[in-house]
Amino acid sequence: MAASSPLLRSSRAKSRDPAGRSRGPWFSPSLEIVSRLRSTRTVWGLGFALFASATAAQTPAVPPTMQWLYGSGEAGATSIQAYHAFRDYVLAAARHRPRDSVVLAEGSTLAAPRFVRCGRRPLAVVLDVDETALQNLGYEYDDATHPGRPYDQERWNAWERSGANQVLPIPGAVTALGAIRRAGVTVIFNSNRLAANAATNEAALNGAGLGPARHGSTLWLQGDAPGGSAKDPRRAAISRRFCVVAMAGDQLGDFTDLFNARGLSVPERRRLATSGAVADLWGNGWFVLSNPVYGTGLRGTIDDIFPADRRWPADQGGH
Ligand SMILES: [Mg+2]
Repeated sequence: MAASSPLLRSSRAKSRDPAGRSRGPWFSPSLEIVSRLRSTRTVWGLGFALFASATAAQTPAVPPTMQWLYGSGEAGATSIQAYHAFRDYVLAAARHRPRDSVVLAEGSTLAAPRFVRCGRRPLAVVLDVDETALQNLGYEYDDATHPGRPYDQERWNAWERSGANQVLPIPGAVTALGAIRRAGVTVIFNSNRLAANAATNEAALNGAGLGPARHGSTLWLQGDAPGGSAKDPRRAAISRRFCVVAMAGDQLGDFTDLFNARGLSVPERRRLATSGAVADLWGNGWFVLSNPVYGTGLRGTIDDIFPADRRWPADQGGH
C-alpha cells in the first residue's frame, strides 16, 4: 500500500528511534597530539582521518527498522518464506477450485466473516505493491538521509512519477508470481499509488520483473474506484470479474478496510487480527509481509503494548 491513505499518511511520518537521528561523535584530536606530529606524511594522514571522520559523522545512522527490512538476511528470508507459502497455497487452490473467494462479502464483519462466492469466474490473486511486491529503496534512502523530516504526500507523489528505476522486487516475489501465472491464475495489484501516475507505476512493477502489470486490468490504483484510499471498493470491483483465491499485503488494510475503522484501539485491532475466524486466514488465503518501517502497525502507548499483568515487578528485579 502506498502512503496515500489518510491513516498511512500519518503512519508514514515515521517515528524514528532516537538513535536514528544521532550523528555520532565528531573526531577531536587534542592540540598536544597535533603538536607532536613530525612528518608531512603524518599530517596528511591525520588530515585524511579528520575528513573521513567528519564525513562519516555527517551521515545519519540507518534506522534499525530499515536495516532489518532492506538490509538483513532475516528479512529476505522472511519474505521468501511468505512467498513460498503464498505460491503453494495458490497452486493448491488452482487444482481444487474453491467455492469462496478470500475477499470479504459486503456487510461482513471481522467477528463473523463471510466471503464473496466465486461462481465460475477465473482465478486471481490480489497483492499490494509497496513493501509487499516492491522495495522502495530510492525513497527510503532519501528518508534515511533526512532524519526527522515529516512525511510529505507531494514528495511521495513525485517518487511515484520518477522513482521507477530505484526499486527492487521483494525477495521471493518474482519467482512466486511467475509460478502462479504459469498455473493459469491472474496476478492483480491493488495499490494506493495514484491512477494519475499509472504509467510510471506500471513501469516500476514491470521494470522490477513483477509484471505484467497493466492499469485497468491487472493494476488497480487509487482513483480507479470510489472511496479514495479505501481498498474494499477496488476489491469488490476485482471480485466481480475474478475469484480471488489469495491476497498478500504488508498492512491489514490490504485485506479488508474493517481493520482501519476509525477509533479502533491498538489492543482491539490486534485482538481482531489474531482471534476467531480471522486468525485462521493468515497463511490460509491471507498472507502478510513484515514491514516495521512504516504503516498502520506503528502506533500504541506503553499501556497499549504491554499488558499490566505482564510487567516485570520491581520487587523481582524489574526497574
Ligand atoms: Mg504496502
